Amino acid sequence: MLSSDQFDFDFIVIGSGFGGSVSALRLTEKGYRVAVMEMGRRWKPEDFPRTSWSIHRWFWRPRLGLRGFFNMRFFRHATIFHGAAVGGGSITYAATLLTPPDKVWQSGTWASLADWRREMPQHYATAAHMLGVAPNNILGPADHLLKQTGDAIGVGDTFYPTNVGIFQAAAGEPGNQVVRDPLFNGDGPPRTTCAACGGCLMGCRYGAKNTLDLNYLHFAEKGGARIFAEAKAVDVRPLHEVGDGSAGYEVFTVESTARMFAKRNRFTCHAVIFSASALGTMELLFRLKQRGSLANISSQLGKHVRTNSESLIGARMPGCREDYSQGIAIGSGIYIDEHTHIEAVRYPRGSDTMSFLTTMLTDGRPGWTRVVLWLKAVAISLCRHPLKTLRMFSPWRWARESIILLCMQALDGEIEMRWQRPWFWPFRKFLVSRGAKIPTYIPQANEFARQFAHTAGGTAMSMLPEILFDIPGTAHCIGGCVIADSRERGVVDHRHRVFGYRNMYICDGSVIAANLGVNPSLTITALAERALSYIPPATTMRWDYAASTSDASQRKSMTG
Ligand SMILES: Cc1cc2nc3c(=O)[nH]c(=O)nc-3n(C[C@H](O)[C@H](O)[C@H](O)COP(=O)(O)OP(=O)(O)OC[C@H]3O[C@@H](n4cnc5c(N)ncnc54)[C@H](O)[C@@H]3O)c2cc1C
Ligand code: SF4
Repeated sequence: MLSSDQFDFDFIVIGSGFGGSVSALRLTEKGYRVAVMEMGRRWKPEDFPRTSWSIHRWFWRPRLGLRGFFNMRFFRHATIFHGAAVGGGSITYAATLLTPPDKVWQSGTWASLADWRREMPQHYATAAHMLGVAPNNILGPADHLLKQTGDAIGVGDTFYPTNVGIFQAAAGEPGNQVVRDPLFNGDGPPRTTCAACGGCLMGCRYGAKNTLDLNYLHFAEKGGARIFAEAKAVDVRPLHEVGDGSAGYEVFTVESTARMFAKRNRFTCHAVIFSASALGTMELLFRLKQRGSLANISSQLGKHVRTNSESLIGARMPGCREDYSQGIAIGSGIYIDEHTHIEAVRYPRGSDTMSFLTTMLTDGRPGWTRVVLWLKAVAISLCRHPLKTLRMFSPWRWARESIILLCMQALDGEIEMRWQRPWFWPFRKFLVSRGAKIPTYIPQANEFARQFAHTAGGTAMSMLPEILFDIPGTAHCIGGCVIADSRERGVVDHRHRVFGYRNMYICDGSVIAANLGVNPSLTITALAERALSYIPPATTMRWDYAASTSDASQRKSMTG
């Protein structure tokens, strides 16, 4: 057996988001030597941008000199939003942490591979404790408006304040107060109570959002894990040409933020965990499969990619006295029918750049007819209410006057990601999306937005890219390396072990095998907790872990 001293680390985790942070902490606790490679930067509260106009501190496109934490990737089927930072998507996310309905475990390639409904509650409970989940007690004007609209259309009883990973003062107490760690018996870092500034999506400048660097990663580092920031993993190869990885791996990284002469590093390890997010892990694995570094990855890579069937709509109340940016980024939600869930989203005061993406609400089937309908609606509105229409398009005061409605549907629908040369750039391969179009127009959601705007005396909004290009935006890309019973159906087994390799795992949103219908981070965290619970302590580790199909079939017969 190979001795651990032959390797730089026992485990190397690629990516420090939800799956990566859980992995780093739980492995450290089990006595392993752990390194985390993260391509994004490390952030302190005071470094976050004050508003979205600080593009260079918000967006992550290091080659263009943008060294922020938020990225947008454009595909034919969806524009995908994601985070890149120490703490992954938690740095830019809205901290809404919801449990999906039980039915998600009965569909998709993971159905009946485990007794999910019995096993998952304990892992959700651990994840919720670690992420400090609590009901939102700071309802802002946008949340009250959501409730009023719900009441007006007879679904007010489904309104609920979101469960969030935000440290809030007790009801009636002031925000922005620094206190000793309240969540981990004083072992965690000091915290500040939420100031209800609505800025969660721009990074919390108060340190009130329970980002991963304040819980999982904080304790992982305390326990000895090493986090390499600005280190992008570009290659992973089995050591000594032992194809199944049983002799360990070498991981190559490059400095992600270097303008020139990026520093390259090589590390060796017994085991690797890919936690680079659904998009990041798919992209890296496609590249490594094509290059031959990891040629045995299942050909199911890129299949069953889901987006929660999202659509963004909203309302703007030009000239209103109310400040709709107050509250937390996603303070409440409502079910307008069995499948359709809507959340009220806001940006902090001054973050008005989103105004360039919003326009007047437009119905209609996707395509040129919808564009014509939109132009007609704008022309009519300009003639009837010229001042109101111009104010509706002005970026000035946009965040104060606007509310975005995030509509998610739990109906199943999936796309595929492939590694191909696009027609417009045949010189190298990229991730490209394939499959049936995801609907950008959800009629019942548009109707709700109209009622919502009417209740507040404003104008309903659509997203311009959805009208012009028929491409929805989503912050919830999941799947692509799904859990399944064999490499013919998925990429990992139900313990997240990669088919075809030893001591290799995937712990991030890419393993999710069904449309959750709710924001996915709590599920990603809970699934990672479950996967890590199966890894034995370092003292008893045999280092021969491989994905098992017999294990899965055994469970299948057990659960019937
Ligand atoms: C604006 C926004 C708001 C959101 N709001 C919510 C919300 O309220 N609730 C919710 O549940 N979800 C929300 N999400 C989604 C949530 O952020 C993601 O689902 C979640 O972060 C995914 O977790 P993960 O572990 O799969 O990966 P991530 O958290 O995305 O972490 C992956 C990490 O890997 C790094 N990485 C990628 N490739 C490499 C590489 N080659 N080498 C090294 N590092 C690499 C990335 O930089 C990133 O930091 C939001 C997302 C966005 C963008
Ligand atoms: S509302 Fe403001 S203070 Fe509260 S968590 Fe969000 S960004 Fe932080």
